[in-house]
Amino acid sequence: MGVERGPDLRATATLRPHRVVVATNGLGPISGAPQMKTIIEPFRIKSVEPIRMTTRAERQRFIREAGYNLFGLRSEDVLIDLLTDSGTGAMSAPQWAAIMRGDESYAGSPSFHRFEAAVKNLMPFRHVIPTHQGRAAEAILFSILGGMGRRIPSNTHFDTTRGNIEASGAIGDDLVIAEARDPALVHPFKGNMDLDRLEAYLAEQGEQVPCVMLTITNNAGGGQPVSLGNIQATAEIAHRHGKLFLIDGCRFAENAWFIKQREPGQGERSIPEIVRDCFSVADGMTMSAKKDAFGNIGGWLAVNDDDLAEQARAHLIRTEGFPTYGGMAGRDLEALAQGLSEIVDEDYLRYRIQTNIYIVERLDALGVPVVKPAGGHAVFVDARGWLPHIDPLAYPGQALAVALYEIGGIRSCEIGTVMFGRQPDGSERPAAMDLVRLAIPRRTYTQSHADYVVEVFGDLAAIKDGLGGYRIAREPKALRHFTCAFEPLEGVSA
Ligand SMILES: *Cc1c(COP(=O)(O)O)cnc(C)c1O
Repeated sequence: MGVERGPDLRATATLRPHRVVVATNGLGPISGAPQMKTIIEPFRIKSVEPIRMTTRAERQRFIREAGYNLFGLRSEDVLIDLLTDSGTGAMSAPQWAAIMRGDESYAGSPSFHRFEAAVKNLMPFRHVIPTHQGRAAEAILFSILGGMGRRIPSNTHFDTTRGNIEASGAIGDDLVIAEARDPALVHPFKGNMDLDRLEAYLAEQGEQVPCVMLTITNNAGGGQPVSLGNIQATAEIAHRHGKLFLIDGCRFAENAWFIKQREPGQGERSIPEIVRDCFSVADGMTMSAKKDAFGNIGGWLAVNDDDLAEQARAHLIRTEGFPTYGGMAGRDLEALAQGLSEIVDEDYLRYRIQTNIYIVERLDALGVPVVKPAGGHAVFVDARGWLPHIDPLAYPGQALAVALYEIGGIRSCEIGTVMFGRQPDGSERPAAMDLVRLAIPRRTYTQSHADYVVEVFGDLAAIKDGLGGYRIAREPKALRHFTCAFEPLEGVSA
């Protein structure tokens, strides 16, 4: 009988808390930092999910069988899953307790009223409309505000937002500041709207524009924050032109933390106060509760306008459910109500953002080119910059993502030419950047997991110049990155 090796208990010696050298974010000291230099995970563990250990040889077989596409892996064959921070966070004991309180009444459930009150406490909108995910809120919103010939500007639309805008016949435009396009440039609010461009845009084509949006933090732009000043200025411009101002608020708490850290005059204010200021200048919001509401599922649409709310609820009843549950069960509404009180906790946010800073600083020290400063929910590696011998059309981001899995069992996500390179005419063009995203699930991994990720990059540094690129062997017509199959080109395997 073969002896199964249990977990190496010596490894627990590395289960130490964050050893932060200096509590700074590269942009100045962190206000309100605790006395000790070590920023610990502000929770202890009550329930664990075992990670199944695998060997490099096994992983090489798993990824080959998945057509070298990380979306094709079984999650139990992954050691550290950094594919996404969406719905992958750990719920707290009070959230699990709240789930038992969930009232599944079809209409008028007290769980809805607790959820609604928790949303309105932070985002003072008149109407709160629950949906099963953020994209359902977007689909409802743009079925009303979108349509042929319309244009909708944002700092950067997230891909489902753009998808729902385009499905309505409208066009989405990205007007983020120019600094956002330089990965190595340090700027405190790289997610900001370019206000001059927005003014010019509205002056030129304002007639086609029903609303102005802002995504906080700017997910497609690397999780970079938007300043309170920029939110207020964008609202002022939109309102002066008679347009609705809407916020895609998926990472509102992370954004508020950055405002508190980096915006002059905000350092002494509470996170809920800053959050309320952000939303009080808006006419509505869309939300994915799988991000900054600590949910595994859920979302909402909130608006002030009564007519808009009435149309949205009619659509909601047709596609999601009755307005007091929408796309969720009563127990989900309870988990989100509790999650909203936890996400604005400063100890949590300090630990959350420090995790990304910790990884970025260490990768930087290894000479791995990373997007700076660290964003709110993910670390982005510049694969094109690190693997310059791989042509962009041979997908350096994919090569890096596959190597991270083979060497260390880390699952990341290519955000580059695989995702954006295919043109409508079927031709292929390099994307603006070839990045690999390490998205950090909320409250799920510890510092030793972060140290492990850094160590894998260290091992990779020794062999990266021999890594080969990939070609796409099979692909669907749209959104190919989810399901396409790759074949390795010449080069040594990791
Ligand atoms: C995740 C996300 C969405 C879509 O939300 P889902 O819950 O995944 O449907 C929209 N906008 C942003 C910025 C997101 O990060």
